[in-house]
Amino acid sequence: MLRDWEDAGGFTEEERKLFIEAEDFNERKAVERMRDERRRREDEEELKKSWPNTEEGRVFVQFAQAFAACRKLLEQSPETAETAQRADGKTLDIYSKLRENLALANRAPRCSYRKSDGQLCRAPKMKGEEYCCMHLAMEAARPKKFSLPALDDANAIQVAITKGAQGLLDGTLDEKCAVKLAHYLRLAASNVSKVRFEPDEGEIS
Ligand SMILES: [Zn+2]
Repeated sequence: MLRDWEDAGGFTEEERKLFIEAEDFNERKAVERMRDERRRREDEEELKKSWPNTEEGRVFVQFAQAFAACRKLLEQSPETAETAQRADGKTLDIYSKLRENLALANRAPRCSYRKSDGQLCRAPKMKGEEYCCMHLAMEAARPKKFSLPALDDANAIQVAITKGAQGLLDGTLDEKCAVKLAHYLRLAASNVSKVRFEPDEGEIS
């Protein structure tokens, strides 16, 4: 849903300006990512504000308060557990199970993704991975860094041309860089027959 401060594309005035001024596909994509992140934050803030006033929110708040009260009670007088066990073992079991799961969850290895505010993500990480499920997905979607082989023969230059074209298509190489790259590849192509990589005797190294 669009907000009052957004245009038809979901941009704020400032974001729209950046989008119009963007010089290439990658810069436009970056502005879109910025917009999406802002909208996500706004959604989250809005949800946090409205949640306690919803029926579901109230139930969860009551639950959290009751859980905290139980924990405090048992910390202050551990012998209450025995009485509770005799009087209403089922309810005490529910409480104990929750405490146990919570302690387990707190010991689970955490995602090591550092968020833009510098804080670690701290969500439980996926088995055998560094990140949680969400940050793994985000990393997979991020374009990989563009790299070139050493341009020391005609084959390598041909590979570089193919990689450059591919990079332009998949977004790992922006248009400005592609223009510069084309220049260097032309230079490499015209030099490749003239240069040798082993200097002659007496030549300056
Ligand atoms: Zn994470």
